[in-house]
Amino acid sequence: MAILNDATTGRLPFSLAGETALITGGGTGIGLAIAQCLALAGARVVLTGRREEPLRRAVAEIGSAAGYVVHDVTVLDQAPLLVRQVEEHYGPVSILVNNAGIHLKKPALQTTETEFLEVFQTHILGAHALIRAVAPGMIERRQGSILFVASMASLFGIPQVIAYTAAKSACVGMVRGLATELSPLGVRVNAIAPGWIETEMSRQAMRGDPAREQKILSRTPLGRFGEPADIGWAAVYLCSSAGRFVTGVVLPVDGGVSIGF
Ligand code: NDP
Repeated sequence: MAILNDATTGRLPFSLAGETALITGGGTGIGLAIAQCLALAGARVVLTGRREEPLRRAVAEIGSAAGYVVHDVTVLDQAPLLVRQVEEHYGPVSILVNNAGIHLKKPALQTTETEFLEVFQTHILGAHALIRAVAPGMIERRQGSILFVASMASLFGIPQVIAYTAAKSACVGMVRGLATELSPLGVRVNAIAPGWIETEMSRQAMRGDPAREQKILSRTPLGRFGEPADIGWAAVYLCSSAGRFVTGVVLPVDGGVSIGF
């Protein structure tokens, strides 16, 4: 690659022109910001989620580069149909962002098996089903980028979120395992581990718990909560050819919280 242009495509290294990105949970919060940033970098973006209204609003906000499909990642056998639909309308998927997620704040000993499984079904099995549907095409084209949204709970212990912590830690294992299997076939696999980012999910988790909020801020060297776009721009880097030698990493985008004292 020349310093300024990708020698094979003639694009600037951070450009995503010609790419199609499928972003689960793309209608709100971090997923929406990732979609906005990828679209600003030139990608077509297709957002999924269970509720149609947020998806409709998100697409109206992003503009003609965006589309949506209502899809629940926990309905695993629908993954191939989703990918087929998206590829028919928008072209081959070259970027998959496994962002859809649910939170569960509960003491470990009160967390039930059903709750545990629900969190795993969303974060892990849902992501795996989509990867199985999308990766064969990426491998055939020898071009693809798969991105997970991990968490600080992937990196250190946080009380009251045991199922979420287990699922987000499993994300890291998937990134490493998949990166070793798929990278030789042309598909990079990475994760972003966001710090505490202002979204509906973090607002709910923090509600009525000012001590937790203070603790987070006190150990964040940059001294603030993150904005969803802070994650979006990191996604552009990891999915574009600027990040072409990066695979198997879990990149903290966290204002320094993972190294804060
Ligand atoms: P939001 O609640 O705004 O986003 C979650 C998104 O996931 C929603 O759009 C939701 O849409 C979608 N979703 C949930 N379940 C499913 C499902 N079964 N199928 C399809 N879509 C689903 O929160 P965030 O933006 O904060 O969270 C996004 C990701 O970032 C999650 O993986 C979360 O764990 C992670 N994260 C967030 C942090 C934060 O501080 N905010 C920190 C670290 C990680 P719908 O309900 O319509 O299905």
